[in-house]
Amino acid sequence: MKKVLVTGGAGYIGSHACKALAAAGYHPIAYDNLSYGHRRAVQWGPLVVGDLADTALVRRTIREHEVTACLHFAAFTYVGESVTDPRKYFRNNVVNTLGLLDSLVEAGVRRMVFSSTCATYGDPQYMPLDEAHPQHPVNPYGESKLMVERMLHWYGRAYGLNWSALRYFNASGADPEGRIGEDHDPETHLIPLVLQAAAGERSHVSIFGADYPTPDGTAIRDYIHVDDLAEAHVLALAHLEKGGDSLALNLGTGSGHSVRAVIESVERVTGLAVPVRSAPRREGDPAVLVAQPDRARAVLGWQPHRHDIDDIVATAWTWHQRMAAARARWVA
Ligand code: UDP
Repeated sequence: MKKVLVTGGAGYIGSHACKALAAAGYHPIAYDNLSYGHRRAVQWGPLVVGDLADTALVRRTIREHEVTACLHFAAFTYVGESVTDPRKYFRNNVVNTLGLLDSLVEAGVRRMVFSSTCATYGDPQYMPLDEAHPQHPVNPYGESKLMVERMLHWYGRAYGLNWSALRYFNASGADPEGRIGEDHDPETHLIPLVLQAAAGERSHVSIFGADYPTPDGTAIRDYIHVDDLAEAHVLALAHLEKGGDSLALNLGTGSGHSVRAVIESVERVTGLAVPVRSAPRREGDPAVLVAQPDRARAVLGWQPHRHDIDDIVATAWTWHQRMAAARARWVA
């Protein structure tokens, strides 16, 4: 069975990727320092607790587990924090990835699927965004991911590394069986915050900007289910294994939903009212971000299974309820 190193395998998207790898017959080895990840999210293979900066442990893990490829998720992902503390982002997301790449190449592992982002594009010049859109990130988070894309390009040329950079739009939803899901602290993402407001766990949800040039005035995003993202990683890995070219691919559904549309979806799915308040726009948030996902379809044969926002929200709600029940048991 092929063993795959999954950095950040205890995190939100990484844990769903481990599930998808296992379903496709791979053996995922999660590598995570548990700074944001959760031990309980690692359910489909072993967990090595370690930091990417610990190059000796990274090397030992690659060698002892005889890994043949790497899915690289481990990174800091708070856009706002990256603006106030850029060195934290460049050190972890860039410097530590450089160490990982060197460890892989030295061990003869030449396949990497990298967790990139539509934040590498910066302010959109046209919509929907295809992979040829200029990449001018407007925050250190996006810049750090773009730097890694560029490193992959040059490592590919020089050392024969085969890579695929997957540029996610808005990862959302959870395992439909409620085994794993989104569990960030602090939580900044729209869907979990709206669910918390519906459940009465927070007083309200703020709508960041109601004066955008969109039909209802709120910002539009492309919400892609995390299981669809995870499946794309497995297909990207298979593509590399078959000798396919290294490349960057957008992962989105190709359709957008406004903040208000997401709130209405939560109200439909949960049957609960969501208290909202208007708030100023969040700095750097464009009006619309929607993927042109045709390339991933053409190259990988990938297409998202969950298009319906209610369907995506329903999986997040299942997870939310399961977490709330677990918290109640811990408190009791
Ligand atoms: N948003 C909002 N209120 C919140 C959190 C997010 O109105 O409390 C908006 C945000 O401005 C963006 C969309 O919801 O337009 C999705 O934001 P999120 O942080 O989930 O993802 P992002 O698009 O920033 O990666």
